[in-house]
Amino acid sequence: EAKGAGRGVAKYFSSELQSEQEDKVRLENDLRAAIASKQFHLMYQPLVAAKDQRLVGFEALIRWEHPERGFVPPPVFIAMAEEMGLMMELGQWVIEEACRTLAHWPEPITVAVNVSPKQIVMPALPNLVSQALARHKVPGNRLELEVTEGVFLGDNSATLDTMKRLRQLGIGIALDDFGTGYSSIGYLNKAVFHKLKIDGSFVREASTREENVAIIKSIVQLAKSFRMNVTAEGVETAEDFERMRDLGVDTIQGYLFGRPLSYERATNMVASFAARKRA
Ligand code: C2E
Ligand code: MG
Ligand code: MG
Ligand code: MG
Repeated sequence: EAKGAGRGVAKYFSSELQSEQEDKVRLENDLRAAIASKQFHLMYQPLVAAKDQRLVGFEALIRWEHPERGFVPPPVFIAMAEEMGLMMELGQWVIEEACRTLAHWPEPITVAVNVSPKQIVMPALPNLVSQALARHKVPGNRLELEVTEGVFLGDNSATLDTMKRLRQLGIGIALDDFGTGYSSIGYLNKAVFHKLKIDGSFVREASTREENVAIIKSIVQLAKSFRMNVTAEGVETAEDFERMRDLGVDTIQGYLFGRPLSYERATNMVASFAARKRA
């Protein structure tokens, strides 16, 4: 009886696992084809200055609309591309596309691009980025790269070296999702980051948990002592915005000021901002 049930469970799990495995292989094949034929697009989420709410730039966020499955969350297919050794190729497409967009938008609007740990460790990255900038005649200081604390799990000296060479091109590097990962405070004094982005989970929880306000206060102080800017992500309400501004955060990003927008809608936002500035 117990033996039989055990066999049944084992059988159930093995077929479940098998179909999960088959599904993953299918998605991997689709991703490979999508990368080869560039079936992606970028959405652009606005960043505004905390002090006067002027538009300062956008974060580019990749989107993959699978023909049958629809929207696939970026963290899912980014992890797959990394595993499959295709992240450099996919990441290069993102950088090229961001530079193409920047060429159409006026200074001083910036575009931030997320780069994965697999990209940042590659010694070829600074050259590839500088070629993309040159192709579109965009100065390095209009492009920002965002990395997460995960970059410090690998070969740190290669990573730091790549980041320093990127900074020499005038490119800003932000430490993304700050506060959620491994303790990376020890890396802040390496002079490679120009900005810290406080993770949205802290920002939103600051409304209910006093400890999070204290954490954000100390992150801001830490950043200032290293001459870094601070962005708060995931700002959804006017209260979140005012709290972050009063805590000394420089830049605000979140649904309150805009969801990720298509290139066309982001371009309209840039234009209406420019018009407002002239008026
Ligand atoms: P991230 O870089 O931290 O990007 C911010 C994420 O928070 C985005 O999710 C954005 O849509 C979402 N978000 C923005 N404002 C709000 C808000 O007010 N409330 C809430 N709840 N969420 C908000 P998305 O686009 O799904 O991207 C998820 C992650 O995928 C990104 O996190 C980034 O780590 C990664 N990713 C996206 N595009 C790329 C890419 O081109 N390359 C690489 N390597 N990673 C990417
Ligand atoms: Mg980011
Ligand atoms: Mg983030
Ligand atoms: Mg995040």
